[in-house]
Amino acid sequence: MEKRSRHFASDNYSGVCPEAWAALEKANPEHAVSYGDDQWTAKAADLLRETFEMECEVFFVFNGTAANSLSLASTGQSYNSILCHETAHVETDECGAPEFFSNGMKVLLIEGERGKIDPAGIEKMVKKRTDIHYPKPRAVSVTQATELGTVYTPDDLKAIWTKTKQFNLKLHMDGARFANAVASLGCKPKEVTWQVGVDVLCFGGTKAGTAVGDAVVFFNRELAEDFDYRCKQSGQLASKMRYLSAPWVGMLQDGAWIRRAGHANAMAKALHDGLAAIEELKIMWPTQANAVFVEMPPWLVHAMRSAGWKFYTFIGQGGARLMCSWDTTEDDVSEFIADAKRLLVEAPRDIDLSDVDPRKL
Ligand SMILES: *Cc1c(COP(=O)(O)O)cnc(C)c1O
Repeated sequence: MEKRSRHFASDNYSGVCPEAWAALEKANPEHAVSYGDDQWTAKAADLLRETFEMECEVFFVFNGTAANSLSLASTGQSYNSILCHETAHVETDECGAPEFFSNGMKVLLIEGERGKIDPAGIEKMVKKRTDIHYPKPRAVSVTQATELGTVYTPDDLKAIWTKTKQFNLKLHMDGARFANAVASLGCKPKEVTWQVGVDVLCFGGTKAGTAVGDAVVFFNRELAEDFDYRCKQSGQLASKMRYLSAPWVGMLQDGAWIRRAGHANAMAKALHDGLAAIEELKIMWPTQANAVFVEMPPWLVHAMRSAGWKFYTFIGQGGARLMCSWDTTEDDVSEFIADAKRLLVEAPRDIDLSDVDPRKL
């Protein structure tokens, strides 16, 4: 197996982007008040309020699983349910944390094309059962950008909002890749959040370029009541909070978050174009953010991995998922494309893959 230091497995393979790093360095030498009562946390929260043009409530937690689980828990009671797409991270990749932290809210699954919830599915699920024996739907969770690398437009979200209003549901957004979605749409952050009915957004920092830490942004401030207690009880209240919040200052103060995400999207577009031009490969979903999903024959997946490339093949609805990040370069992209072309010619096709675990990178 060849060794490589650059990969397309996840946008969380990348390091910390320079703007976030600089802010951390600036926050480091001084003493600061602990548990979030410091100037960096105040500044980061203010910058988020500026970014969204709204007096939202802001909390910083260690990761996206915590952000999603705790914010979903704040939407209802233990006897309620949460509706999400069948490929949603909250369903497939959080080890039951939303159910755990909400003391039992059940996650119910909705279908929809290209990773996006079909609004009619919300109505169907709500009306499926209305008796006391069924967990009462209370929230809808959408992922922006989706797990399949597609993006909800403002109109898509409005159609979902129509249903959440109709059935008195809260609207939660898993924005682990919110920056990529906004960069892709070229819209204002408010146009895909509170202006289309989003009550709470989990805004991903890690994949965007911080070391650690996601922001929970409540546009519906009633939901934020006692959220600080939820964070503390679940081990999500950082004592040295400035190390979670200062990088956000670096990312937000001069628009680095959107520039860096735009770069990741552009690299995904280049990777998409290069791979789409190869006849034997098939692109699975439109590349609207920083992911490219491509169908590759298993022997080619094996050959690419043997050439040192790491990428997942079990996310969403299968295929090779190739993620670009803020630090993906044009050289990374062209090397991957060149290797795919070369191995399509050179790699053995009749190898026995029965012992190869497809989930292993
Ligand atoms: C990465 C990711 C998260 C957060 O995952 P953590 O590993 O808990 O930070 C949440 N939702 C989506 C869609 C993701 O891709």
